[in-house]
Amino acid sequence: MEKITSLAKRRGFVFQSSEVYGGQNGAWDYGPLGVELKNRIAAAWWKEMTRLNDDIVGLDAAILMHPRTWEASGHVENFTDPLVDCKKCKSRFRADQVPEENIAAKKCPECGGELTDTRKFNLMFKTHIGPAEDSASVIYLRPETAQGIYVNYKNVIQSNRMKIPFGIAQIGKAFRNEIVTKNFIFRTCEFEQMEMQFFVKPGSDEGWFDEWRKRRWAYYEKLGVRMDSLRWHRHGEGELAHYAKDAYDIEYLFPMGWRELEGVHNRTDFDLNRHAQYSGKDMQYIDQDGGNERYIPYIIETSAGLTRTLLMILCDAYDEEKVADKGNDDDWRTVLRFHPVIAPITVAVLPLMKKDGLAETALEIRRDLQDDFAADYDQGGAIGRRYRRQDEAGTPFCVTVDYQTKEDGTVTLRFRDSMEQVRIHRDELAARLHGEIRSYKRA
Ligand code: ATP
Repeated sequence: MEKITSLAKRRGFVFQSSEVYGGQNGAWDYGPLGVELKNRIAAAWWKEMTRLNDDIVGLDAAILMHPRTWEASGHVENFTDPLVDCKKCKSRFRADQVPEENIAAKKCPECGGELTDTRKFNLMFKTHIGPAEDSASVIYLRPETAQGIYVNYKNVIQSNRMKIPFGIAQIGKAFRNEIVTKNFIFRTCEFEQMEMQFFVKPGSDEGWFDEWRKRRWAYYEKLGVRMDSLRWHRHGEGELAHYAKDAYDIEYLFPMGWRELEGVHNRTDFDLNRHAQYSGKDMQYIDQDGGNERYIPYIIETSAGLTRTLLMILCDAYDEEKVADKGNDDDWRTVLRFHPVIAPITVAVLPLMKKDGLAETALEIRRDLQDDFAADYDQGGAIGRRYRRQDEAGTPFCVTVDYQTKEDGTVTLRFRDSMEQVRIHRDELAARLHGEIRSYKRA
C-alpha cells in the first residue's frame, strides 16, 4: 500500500486533504490524474447501468434531505458503531475490531491501559440549517445515496412512465463519521458511492437478486480486473443490515487483505414501507398491465464505493516489471495497467526531438486526437524516460513522431502493456485506437 500511496501522490492521483495544515483525517483530494480516473470510473459505471440498460434511469438527489428521511430509514436509530477508548493512550477503537478478550478484560490492545465501556456512536454527520442551532434545525449529511432514490421513486415513475421492473442509478457523495480511517482512501469520512436501486415485484426479488449478482460480477471482468482477486462474501445472520433479506459483498484482495468493494442487497420493501409510514404518502405501485394490482415493490440494491473502486483499480493495475538487465534503476519499470476505457490519459503524443518541426507535427497530431481521446503531449527528456512516465500514469498508448513522419506521415504507436511498437500512418491513428480500446484484453 505504501508504494501505491506514494505513487498516487507523486503522480498527482491523490493528495492528503489540507496537507499544508498537517492534513485532515478521513478526507482526500484528487489531483489532475486522479480526478480523470475517478470521472472515468464513474462514466464507465454510468454507461453500464443507464445507457446499456433500457430499464434504468439516472438521478442526482441533494445531499441534504429532510431529517425525517433518516428516522424512516432507521439511520438515526441504527446507524451506529460500537466505540471504546483507551483511558491511558487515548487510542480509539471500533469495539467489534478489538479482540473479544480485550473487551472482556477492558484492556487496550495497544498499550494494555484501561478501556472505557463500549458505547454506541452514530456515524451520521449532523449540522444545522439556517441561523439557529437548535434541535429544530438539525440536518444530516447523507450517509448513503440510496434514500434520495427511494423518496423520488414515484416522481420517476410518473415523469418517465417507468414500469416495474426498473432501476434508478445515482452517483454522489456520502458522509460517515468513521471511527477508524486508515488504509489510504479505503475508508474515509467523505466518499462517493455509485448506487443502483432496482424495483421489482415481490416474489420476483430472489431471481433479480441472483441476476444482479451475475451482472455485477461480469462488470468487473469487463473492466479487466484480475478476477482471482475478487470473491463473494455472503452476510451471515448477525451481519445482515436491519433492512436486508439477503446480502452479498464483492470483496477484493487489497494489500491489507480481503475487503468489501461493493454490496448487492435485497432490501425488501423495508425502505418504501417506512417512507410511506413516516411521510403519510402512498408508496404503492399500481400495475396497470396487471389488473391495477397495487403493491410496495421490493428493492435490489447494488452499492459500490466510487473512491474505494478507484483504490481497487490502482492496486489492481499496479505492476513492477523487469525490462532490462543492465544492473541499474532503469532495469525496472512501474506500470499501471488500467483498462484504456478508464485510463486518465488514453494516448500521449511525443516528438522524438523538439526541433526540426517535429514538435509542431506532434502537436498537430495531438490536436487531431483530442476530440476523441484524452490526449497528452510531452516533449521533455529522453524518449525512454517519457515512455516510463506514461507507463507510470497508466497511459495505454504512446505515439512517437520522428523524422520519417515528416517524409511519409507515419508514426510509431507503442503499447504500454507489451511495449511493442508498430508503424502506422497518422491518418489511421484514431480508427486504430478505437479498435484497440474496444478489443482490449488484459494479458
Ligand atoms: P463497511 O463494512 O466497509 O463499513 P458498509 O457495509 O457499511 O461498509 P455499505 O453501507 O454497504 O458499506 O456501502 C456501500 C459501499 O460504499 C461499500 O461497499 C463501499 O465500497 C462504500 N463505502 C462505505 N463506507 C465507505 C467509507 N467510509 N469510505 C469509502 N467507501 C465507503
